Amino acid sequence: MVQLSVVVPCFDESEVIDAFHTALLDALAPTGVSFEVCYVDDGSRDGTVQRLRALASADPRVRFTSFSRNFGKEAGLLAGMRMARGAAVVLMDADLQHPPELVPRMLELHRQGYDQVVAVRDRTGEGAVRKAFSRAYYRLVRRFMDVEIADGAGDFRLLSRRAVDCLLALPESNRFSKGLFSWIGFDTVDFAYRNVERAAGTSKWRGRHLLNYGIDGLLSFNSRPLRLAIHAGLWLFLSAVLYALWIVANVLLDGVETPGYATLITAIVALGGIQIAILGVIGEYVGRIYHEAKRRPHYVVRETEGSTGTARREER
Ligand code: UDP
Ligand code: MG
Repeated sequence: MVQLSVVVPCFDESEVIDAFHTALLDALAPTGVSFEVCYVDDGSRDGTVQRLRALASADPRVRFTSFSRNFGKEAGLLAGMRMARGAAVVLMDADLQHPPELVPRMLELHRQGYDQVVAVRDRTGEGAVRKAFSRAYYRLVRRFMDVEIADGAGDFRLLSRRAVDCLLALPESNRFSKGLFSWIGFDTVDFAYRNVERAAGTSKWRGRHLLNYGIDGLLSFNSRPLRLAIHAGLWLFLSAVLYALWIVANVLLDGVETPGYATLITAIVALGGIQIAILGVIGEYVGRIYHEAKRRPHYVVRETEGSTGTARREER
């Protein structure tokens, strides 16, 4: 069994992949650990696969899997963890934003008995708007989620074999790994590192993706939004009762009078809006159930290449 597997999801990373690979080998060589690198090509269209083929045929420690289309980073991480055979697994990005120099430090901490070693980045060099949004988001997450997620604690981490096996045993198809890492537990330690800009290429995370990712995070870990919907409904009902009492009192004291066109319209529109929002929340959960019930695989593999150097094509 190799001591370390490095799992790297890649989507359109042909510009940096070679630099990344060299940096990784340079960082691992002095440690003397036996390792393998598991690349997952997430349906890249820019020749990343060719680069990976070349790396894999030049070095038996390199293996890769290539998806039939883009399935997202979560699917890439899952495929990589399934490929990994090491006693410890490091998950990292291909764009050098996760500095390979930190891997020896992770191994060091792992040797002290930790099952999860998390590299937590600060937010240097990030736009002010994105920074503010992330801050607010993590505050929200801490309030609403049953699992603990630290700001800046991403996927860059080392997992012990038993932690990986545990993650692989979780069957859900909607994988929000930040939450899953926290859910599985085990002894976890983190250390901070300075955020670095991506070496080349562009980030695949833009506004809308981030928003959806955020919503996924909030919804995939509990049903608290449903509980909130019930609370909102109860409060509204209570205020309606109070308002009705007030009207009755008015009629009794001042006699019948029927203004109130504006109040009616406002009430109808406000209630309509709240109902639709709540239906949306319910729909979101129903959608999730539907999605899980289909039991589709997380990804479709086009090609894999193992240490034997022979390409194996799979169809599903
Ligand atoms: N990635 C992936 N599939 C995707 C998007 C991203 O495998 O659909 C990989 C990407 O190649 C990189 C890592 O996930 O290795 C992080 O992506 P990116 O740098 O775009 O995200 P950011 O660092 O901006 O959060
Ligand atoms: Mg990046």
